[in-house]
Amino acid sequence: MARYIGPVCRQCRREGVKLYLKGDRCYSDKCAFSKRSYAPGQHGQGRKKVSEYGIQLREKQKARRTYGVLEGQFRTYFDKADRQKGITGENLLVLLERRLDNVVYRLGFGSSRNQARQLVRHGHFTVNGHRVNIPSYQIKADDVIQVKESSKESPIMKEMAEGIASKTVPAWLELSAADLSGKVVRYPNREEIDIPIQEHLIVELYSR
Ligand code: SF4
Repeated sequence: MARYIGPVCRQCRREGVKLYLKGDRCYSDKCAFSKRSYAPGQHGQGRKKVSEYGIQLREKQKARRTYGVLEGQFRTYFDKADRQKGITGENLLVLLERRLDNVVYRLGFGSSRNQARQLVRHGHFTVNGHRVNIPSYQIKADDVIQVKESSKESPIMKEMAEGIASKTVPAWLELSAADLSGKVVRYPNREEIDIPIQEHLIVELYSR
């Protein structure tokens, strides 16, 4: 499965905002964006006039990088969102939030979406009792996501279990820290998606 393998912090610097892609490091003084909050590259510190297209493009890239989705897959999400009833931009964000790796991250397993994705890939989770190792798997309302029985004893899960009880999860999810599981109560609404993205700019970009 294709994924971005370049320097992670460079993405935050390119977008001019912290995307919190590296977990705990993002909250420490080691954060590359805190040290150098300008774009990477030779001309990163130069003054730039950004076109309307450039603004729309950056917004799309910000969303794509936040969820760790490649271009083709992101476009597929957009097309699907466009076919759904309702506001396309909001539909798009809900589809991204419904990715299994995102839900695992939102439930507090993994300090970043990247880590959550790795946990999913390594087959540590079940959905409704069936092992699922596809990060892009779309969860549905009432789905139950649980750490696989045999994974509960793994060192990484034991460490995670200690910290998870104190985690706050969004209202559309329910966490049961005792048995390392979570339930999708319903889909999130826009106000509950705390990503600083102006999704209408993405819609405008793809409508060109
Ligand atoms: Fe972005 Fe986190 Fe790297 Fe800071 S440490 S630049 S927030 S990925």
